[in-house]
Amino acid sequence: MEIIDVRKQLARHPSKEYTKRTLEGIKYLVVHHSATSGGDASSFARYHVNNLDWPGIGYHYVILEDGTIQWTNDLNVTSYHVKGYNNQSIGICLVGDFTIEILKKEQKAAVKELIRNLLSRLNLGMDAVKGHNEFSGSATACPALDMDALRKFLNEEQVEVYINNEKLDIPVELKGGVTYVAIRSLGEALGYDVEWDGDKNRVYLIKDDVLEQVQQEGNYYLSIINNIKKIVSEV
Ligand SMILES: [Zn+2]
Repeated sequence: MEIIDVRKQLARHPSKEYTKRTLEGIKYLVVHHSATSGGDASSFARYHVNNLDWPGIGYHYVILEDGTIQWTNDLNVTSYHVKGYNNQSIGICLVGDFTIEILKKEQKAAVKELIRNLLSRLNLGMDAVKGHNEFSGSATACPALDMDALRKFLNEEQVEVYINNEKLDIPVELKGGVTYVAIRSLGEALGYDVEWDGDKNRVYLIKDDVLEQVQQEGNYYLSIINNIKKIVSEV
């Protein structure tokens, strides 16, 4: 997980300062979207300070569209991001407007890594992860994500497949203790040709000796394996 520490580079109010708290009191990780197309910690910090007159940026982390995680506030800073619960929560902002766009693959992977890391550091369970709009009194669509689906995704164990120390870039799923991979991806990675016969519902993994066909030539049936003809029988 790569986290870029931008805490000291962001706009701050000339006189106001956020209060501090202890980490023991933190009960929630609150997911937000920025409701903007683009932007980053710098632009959000300027908006929060200059337009909203806050002491500093409201979030603790910002996750950019390419999956970069920006660290924007110490965890013990009671910044503003969810009314009534600021003193017991950490704010994580995903850049984007998810009322009109979908969460990027890179952001999904980054938020998973970040949240799982924070949950274990703070000794919290997955039910601590909330969308901004899951707090009563929050009249907002933010983060405009299916939070149950997100929590389910965050809970799924990540499985990686290696062949001889080389990590395969293929989708893997763990379900009920069984690891599932796409057979085409795995087969091709192992050097097989993968063929699908839709009539018979069969998958063929073919390597080395490939029976191309059996054909008749004159008085003989020939099998053709790797372009080499062999007599199988007489007609
Ligand atoms: Zn929000």
